[in-house]
Amino acid sequence: MSAPLRTLEFRDPLKAKQLGARLSEVVDQVGREPVSVMHVCGSHEQAIARFGLRSAFPKKLDVVMGPGCPVCITDVPEVDEAVALALQGVRVATYGDMLRVPGTVKSLGDVRGEGAKVEVVYGIDQALELARATPAEELVFFATGFETTAVATASALLHDPPPNFSVLSAHKYIPPVMEIVTEMPGSRIEGFLAAGHAAVITGSNVFEQFVRDHGVPVVVAGFEPLDILAALVRLTELVRDREPKVVNMFPRCVTAEGNRVAQEQLWQVFTPTGGQWRGIAHVPNGNLRLRDDFARFDARRRFTIDVAKLWAYAPPRLLGQCRCGEIMSGSKRPSDCALFGKACVPESPVGACMVSTEGTCRIWHQYGGHLDLRSVS
Ligand code: SF4
Repeated sequence: MSAPLRTLEFRDPLKAKQLGARLSEVVDQVGREPVSVMHVCGSHEQAIARFGLRSAFPKKLDVVMGPGCPVCITDVPEVDEAVALALQGVRVATYGDMLRVPGTVKSLGDVRGEGAKVEVVYGIDQALELARATPAEELVFFATGFETTAVATASALLHDPPPNFSVLSAHKYIPPVMEIVTEMPGSRIEGFLAAGHAAVITGSNVFEQFVRDHGVPVVVAGFEPLDILAALVRLTELVRDREPKVVNMFPRCVTAEGNRVAQEQLWQVFTPTGGQWRGIAHVPNGNLRLRDDFARFDARRRFTIDVAKLWAYAPPRLLGQCRCGEIMSGSKRPSDCALFGKACVPESPVGACMVSTEGTCRIWHQYGGHLDLRSVS
């Protein structure tokens, strides 16, 4: 006789149902609708879609995904820089998702198909291995992602990288973009779910200043169904009680101070600077630039990157219709885009949100475009 299936602690259906009921109660107590909250993490959207959690959310609660997909917010000119470097004959290594992210006229995948040396790696360690294996050849790691991956880049640069190795940093820092999204005209965001994995590095304290400045509560959440439901209950309680504060609902991994060693390495190597997030806005302090001490590893200072050459091509017709920016700032849903599931599908993405497994359009497409199962007749 086979052993009975064990219910996973953080996926218990009965507890999920109880939390869903509690969420409805709290949202009703807010006394108006919709109550709009935002999560800033592709992994949260994946979990919400995968476990059908929107079916458990009360109709009066709007949970929108913000700019939490690192691939999606990598700006077009940043992709253009990597493409231009590859076209100039420099070997470029990056994550697989980045190959299909559209630049102004070409993606890294396009130029790879034309013969440029573009390598897919799982992380910076593999890029370092490639550089060490071919010491006579320059290798640029196109480094994308938030503080979670920026710490890996920082650590690598602090541990004796080979002289033929450099970094094209498109790293982004999440806390400043929360301010931008909150301040956008017409923003209805009343609270944020913060990504647990990033908070492992930064600590939950990193959100205190934002909460003081904007009066919007932040709840740090893990990624299991019960983590998300419990965090939403707490977040809506804070909205109901008009109590702007930071609450850590992922204490099994996140502390108030975070990982001090990782933070020291991060800020030893990088300095925050203003930069454009694709389709959203210029975000003061939202980009991570290499400090002068690491200039020799900075591809922007090591090479003359000729992006103007790329712009001589005619711009693609469809990219202008992409609604990624509005989706990532929470004012539109993928289904509001006329290209969703038609001209824009994962096999031939028009916008970056359809490329990555953390992109809202890609996730919605993968799960049938009906994340709220109540809307399926
Ligand atoms: Fe952009 Fe495609 Fe999403 Fe439309 S469906 S917003 S074109 S990524």
